[in-house]
Amino acid sequence: MPIKAILTDIEGTTSAVSFVFDVLFPYAGKHLPEFVRAHAEDPDVAMQLGAIRLDSGEPEADVERVIEILQQWIAEDRKATPLKALQGMIWQQGYETGELKGHVYPDAVQALKAWHQQGYELYVYSSGSIQAQQLIFGYSEAGDLTPLFSGYFDTTSGPKRDAQSYRHITEAIGCPAGKILFLSDIVQELDAAQEAGMLTCGLAREGGKLEGHTTVRSFAEIDLMHP
Ligand SMILES: [Mg+2]
Repeated sequence: MPIKAILTDIEGTTSAVSFVFDVLFPYAGKHLPEFVRAHAEDPDVAMQLGAIRLDSGEPEADVERVIEILQQWIAEDRKATPLKALQGMIWQQGYETGELKGHVYPDAVQALKAWHQQGYELYVYSSGSIQAQQLIFGYSEAGDLTPLFSGYFDTTSGPKRDAQSYRHITEAIGCPAGKILFLSDIVQELDAAQEAGMLTCGLAREGGKLEGHTTVRSFAEIDLMHP
């Protein structure tokens, strides 16, 4: 068996980009003020509020002022760690109450289940936090898919367009790069994985070609015997 492990991107690959931008981020933005007010005294949340006061140079900011700062960061699309942490907590609550369900394309669900059954190891590499990755798959429209995965990687392994990140991930997976198939909708990510020695397959769900890589429209077209 030439391929031993499959490493997949989420946004645009297993899941719709619009789920993240039209569902997840607006959900977090909408619930942020009430969430921060309700949980300001919880140790996890209080720690993030402290980090925000420090980052913004406003050590005396009250809870309402911190909410304003957060809304400004969201408007500026700032990827601040405390903001990401709070968004993760809000999403977790949304998933747990059933208000949010992770979008995963049915062809991806079917293929991931079949590959897992056939003994391939499955891994995720996404710019979303590992917590956010586990929530999308754990509370997906198709149920809990986390038992299918052997591990998760986020940008703490490095940027997605940097070959070195894929070398780190190869080491963590513990099999030769040439036995790992990387799936993504972004050509620069596929190029980086290829440079690190991985096999690649591009997902172009709207059609088209990811230059230099086998390109498919859905997971149903992926042939692990002839990648
Ligand atoms: Mg993507």
